[in-house]
Amino acid sequence: MVSKEMWALGANRSVIRDLFEYGLKQAAIVGPENVFDYSLGNPSIPSPDAVNDSIRAILDDTDSIKVHGYTSAVGDVETRKAIADDLNDRYNAGIRPENLFICCGAAPGLIAIMRALAATKEAEFVAIAPYFPEYKPFATCAGGKLVVVPADTEHFQIDLKALEAAITPNTQAVIVNSPNNPTGTVYTAETITALGQLLTRKGEEYGHPIYILADEPYRELVYDGVEVSFIPNLYKNTIVCYSYSKSLSLPGERIGYICVPDSCQDSQELYAAVAGAARAGGHVCAPSLWQKVIARCAHLRPDLAAYDKNRKALQEGLTKMGYSMASPDGAFYLFVKAPNGDDMAFSEMAKAKNLLVVPGTGFGCPGWFRICYCVSYDMIMRSLPVFAELMEQSK
Ligand code: PLP
Repeated sequence: MVSKEMWALGANRSVIRDLFEYGLKQAAIVGPENVFDYSLGNPSIPSPDAVNDSIRAILDDTDSIKVHGYTSAVGDVETRKAIADDLNDRYNAGIRPENLFICCGAAPGLIAIMRALAATKEAEFVAIAPYFPEYKPFATCAGGKLVVVPADTEHFQIDLKALEAAITPNTQAVIVNSPNNPTGTVYTAETITALGQLLTRKGEEYGHPIYILADEPYRELVYDGVEVSFIPNLYKNTIVCYSYSKSLSLPGERIGYICVPDSCQDSQELYAAVAGAARAGGHVCAPSLWQKVIARCAHLRPDLAAYDKNRKALQEGLTKMGYSMASPDGAFYLFVKAPNGDDMAFSEMAKAKNLLVVPGTGFGCPGWFRICYCVSYDMIMRSLPVFAELMEQSK
């Protein structure tokens, strides 16, 4: 018998995917130059040249069986060592290769971590709105459930009072995504420190650790010198899930890592449970070629000039028209207030003009919409008059 739950997930596309598909269809009818697609976070800057150079060098220099064969289930030790070295150089983090598990991007990494922590079906994972919508199916698939803390729409930091109210004896982890999708906000070190103090207190009260699950695909994507904290340095019970999808523009290649630092309570048991959960989900031996690329490229940083130019053009253009938005410190998203307060209606109005923005409702934050600005600068400039028309129409 087919699982109704899985059927529903497969049969109904996410709103983001729906908009993206709609954009492709419309492009065939009205011409691609007349569709302004801000729906999907597919990086638009090319991967650094060193990535492609590494692939060529690996294919030329390495024995074919080594390139294409199974690796160790937790990932090649050279890859884990390169990542540990990079984290230690940048954050003095004390990470060992044994703390790292190479995974196929952030999505299966998040599921493996949640699964490792879902000892009972009462297990709860807390997400802070606005949040990445896939957290919900991930938490359910892991055998637990997602609890959502309402957004602080004034600062888009973390409303610690609301968060405390959401924590119960069943809370296993709080998911922290900074820089954030969809707001672009970076949580300050003060916010994270205060969150850590709260979780320490609640963990002591309930007699078990409450972990921070740091979901960090956008860690390197920040502007204007804003600093992103390495959360394990601020709160010891932090598990990091990282992906190269956005930082090295490799979303189709499926490569990232999980880091369970020694500072985590029960770190060895937890690491083994993460490896076990990945095994149970069939996600071991991440793509071998890509592991070898990361062994050579873990220290690379993206050139963000194009995203920064886009960010400034949109922020300045939209602000002049009267739109307001969350502080766009990082990632490649702007989270903008719907002028008439109704994000669904605004998104529909925009869609009618072939301008595709994602309603905030799906991120747990109605009244706002997301613009994904990893697009061409030219498209942004051509779309600005359409945003202006929408503002007029909303008055
Ligand atoms: N977490 C967040 C916040 C994301 O925005 C995304 C992708 O957009 C993911 C996780 C999944 O990343 P990956 O492509 O590495 O699976």
